[in-house]
Amino acid sequence: MAKFFNCYNCEDDKGKPGFNFAAEKPVCPKCGLDGTDPHVAHLIVPCRLIHFEPPHPIAKNRGTGKLACGADRPGTQSTGVITAANCPACLASEAGKAAAKPIDVDAFELELVIDAENQQYKVKE
Ligand SMILES: [Zn+2]
Ligand SMILES: [Zn+2]
Repeated sequence: MAKFFNCYNCEDDKGKPGFNFAAEKPVCPKCGLDGTDPHVAHLIVPCRLIHFEPPHPIAKNRGTGKLACGADRPGTQSTGVITAANCPACLASEAGKAAAKPIDVDAFELELVIDAENQQYKVKE
């Protein structure tokens, strides 16, 4: 099974240090750096696969108990924070894509009215 690595000789697609890749050997597919070379081995760091566990629809601060990619639970690490997950199958799943969607700010836009008498803003009803 492929392992996960971070190449700190590269940047991710957002320009942050550390390019995440899955491979049998610690050789970066982007820059070609070979992590088996002790001289540069510190630049290619093995990392764990972290699955995404979607938040429970009702219970607060609880997950659903199921991983978004459908992988078996034992021995796996998971998070309810989509930006902390790195499992490609979880990120590609419907739940993963829905969680990664930016918040629709317009949906939360409230109309405010000035309440001059009490010197404050109020949400228009
Ligand atoms: Zn690299
Ligand atoms: Zn997963």
